[in-house]
Amino acid sequence: LKLLKEYILQIVKTIEELQNIRKNLNGNIGFVPTMGALHDGHISLIRKAKDENEVVIVSIFVNPTQFLKGVDLNKYPRKEEADIKICQMCKVDYLFMPNSMYEKDEVLIKAPINSYVLEGFTRPGHFDGVLQVVLKLFNLTLPKNAYFGKKDAQQLALIQQMVKNLFLPINIIACDIVRESSGLALSSRNVYLTPEQKEEALKISKSIYMAGNLIAKGERDSKIVKDKIYKILENLDVEYVRVVNKRFDEIEKIEPSNTIILVVVRFGNVRLLDNIWM
Ligand code: AMP
Repeated sequence: LKLLKEYILQIVKTIEELQNIRKNLNGNIGFVPTMGALHDGHISLIRKAKDENEVVIVSIFVNPTQFLKGVDLNKYPRKEEADIKICQMCKVDYLFMPNSMYEKDEVLIKAPINSYVLEGFTRPGHFDGVLQVVLKLFNLTLPKNAYFGKKDAQQLALIQQMVKNLFLPINIIACDIVRESSGLALSSRNVYLTPEQKEEALKISKSIYMAGNLIAKGERDSKIVKDKIYKILENLDVEYVRVVNKRFDEIEKIEPSNTIILVVVRFGNVRLLDNIWM
């Protein structure tokens, strides 16, 4: 008689509880850190983690240290019940949802200088907070593999750099951007867009697809590519369009397999990020 282990999602609310559970876990652990309001982008990371590991841990924590003071922390969408259902549907083993991850007056990690450009320029200190919480979460979950979306390209690059610099024995798995059928990259922040803004936002993916085609046809001049992107985005509140290599240095000449084109457009207070890796 084959005994089937009944599946139950275990929700873990405290750090101590997670540490105790972790001590007794065997096999490869796949870890997916998130801030909740889960959508198909997150689900694709979880599914990949499920395919590649014996045990999957997902965390949901809206990390205060990565928000600028007074900016959108309290407004960040929270959908606890729906998130739990999604984790059950994906057969996640452990869902870590701590109330807090910090003690008072903690020493903060200082992210390297390249974390103060682009996203880190608009949101100074943002990546200090991201690296701080990710390192804490890594130390609690001790995963073999950790899953991050290419959508947050600079975040992914800085985490890869941290893992390398600190000799962390963790594989960082970069996952493709999941989009709506319209092309719009999925983001928890899309709920803030009006239908008209959502329609206008389609120009973003259109512009980066155009750039991808142009490069595929042989264009190597970053300026020409950027100008054509700006042309498609004209009338929108474009924060930046950049062509960088995987270390996030700006490049004038596109290097196949080592180029990311980044676009950020604002709709009121909502910033939409998109990118394409060439
Ligand atoms: P967040 O909850 O926004 O912190 O995102 C958690 C993880 O999901 C990060 O590694 C993101 O890069 C990733 N992610 C968010 N949106 C997408 C998307 N549309 N496609 C793929 N990954 C995504």
